[in-house]
Amino acid sequence: MEYETIAAISTPMGEGAISIVRLSGSKAIDIADRLYRGKASLKDVKTHTIHYGKMIDPKTDETIEEVMVSVMRGPKTFTREDVVEINCHGGLVSVNRVLELVLEVGAVLAEPGEFTKRAFLNGRIDLSQAEAVMDLIRAKTDRAMNVAMGQMEGRLSRLIQSLRQTLLEIIAQVEVNIDYPEYDAEEMTNRMLKEKAGYVQNKIKDLLTTAKQGKILREGLSTVIIGRPNVGKSSLLNNLIHENKAIVTDIPGTTRDVIEEYVNIRGVPLKLIDTAGIRETEDIVERMGVERSRQVLNKADLILLLLNYNEELQPEDIQLFEAIQGMDAIIVVNKTDLERKISLDKVRTLAGQSKVITTSLLKEEGIDELEEAVRDLFFEQGIESQDMTYVSNSRHISLLNQASHAIGDAISSIDDGMPVDMAQIDIRRTWEILGEIIGDTVSDSLIDQLFSQFCLGK
Ligand code: GDP
Ligand code: ZN
Repeated sequence: MEYETIAAISTPMGEGAISIVRLSGSKAIDIADRLYRGKASLKDVKTHTIHYGKMIDPKTDETIEEVMVSVMRGPKTFTREDVVEINCHGGLVSVNRVLELVLEVGAVLAEPGEFTKRAFLNGRIDLSQAEAVMDLIRAKTDRAMNVAMGQMEGRLSRLIQSLRQTLLEIIAQVEVNIDYPEYDAEEMTNRMLKEKAGYVQNKIKDLLTTAKQGKILREGLSTVIIGRPNVGKSSLLNNLIHENKAIVTDIPGTTRDVIEEYVNIRGVPLKLIDTAGIRETEDIVERMGVERSRQVLNKADLILLLLNYNEELQPEDIQLFEAIQGMDAIIVVNKTDLERKISLDKVRTLAGQSKVITTSLLKEEGIDELEEAVRDLFFEQGIESQDMTYVSNSRHISLLNQASHAIGDAISSIDDGMPVDMAQIDIRRTWEILGEIIGDTVSDSLIDQLFSQFCLGK
């Protein structure tokens, strides 16, 4: 199928001073050439080469911008189509002008995600890789970027494909058993079936255990700072924001189209959440009672509970401990530059499994330990390992959960001594569900919906 030639502004990762107008499609080179003045016509240059020249307005011959133009002929391009990238260095006004001209002479404005969608439709990448491109664009930290890169390189896809291969082998084996019932190997078939299905089930479980870390890497760790008035919540918040690069993102196309604050703590993106105004909360228990504040706090992935080193533990402190029972929390005893009046033994008892850190935010002491505690909480040994396949995408997680159920059903029906073709139905279902992750069995409308979430120009 022949698609129109599309164009959009595509700013490179890391936000250099350069902006790029990217074109993709069969007319890409022709369109760029109509605006380009340089040594040679872009139509005559070799593929995958870069050329210096000027962009002119063909109606007036006025020079708009000095540019470097990359010419890449399909199929060895991201979209498998002819791709031209016009690198402009003159800021937003001139890059917009170049885009306008490109549209005037025959390109159409790309929809969000359309470049990536073409790469998918032209068979260049599979669906999970396309989704990884979207994750890359949104990646908040280097680690999150690595997860997305790994996925884009096809690590998840390869694993899913090998699991589906195993499932096909089981199905084939079962077919033999059904077709030749007199071939008396039922016992052996059942054993083999259970073994292989168990293997697939374990692999799916492993993937699901990475899901929490993956989701945090992608979406940030929702963090709430709680404590009585004056313990230092605002000071901590300010310290975290100012000492660490605050990442402000504006995620388009999502319902929460709001600016959120992210800080990068040793590779863990913290999202300082403002759900119901509880980003920094003093009198939450008083306002809502222990039970309700628990419900609100429960939405957070991490609680930072502040206490005052310079005061005895108060009943309100104890209530806060009760409200965060069982949640991931770090207890921060602040103001160590003042005289100690709190009992640290009592604090440790109340804290249970949670780490207790002492700080003086005033003197900027103990903050390294706090940051280490945050990191340790979410990157225990092993989970960090480079070649781990993370699952971070909520669509993948939901499909893996469904696949896990389906394969579980297969195993139980073997255990219950049901006819083998019952198990086969569940195994086939598992195979289909896993196929949805890599886009083997998805509908067009889902594809449109997924790609519409991308940023423009990708
Ligand atoms: P919040 O009410 O919990 O948000 O507390 P704030 O961050 O507004 O701090 C209350 C007061 O305690 C302010 O005057 C801070 O300067 C002070 N403060 C914060 N951290 C420390 C500390 O480590 N040592 C001392 N001495 N004062 C602190
Ligand atoms: Zn405050």
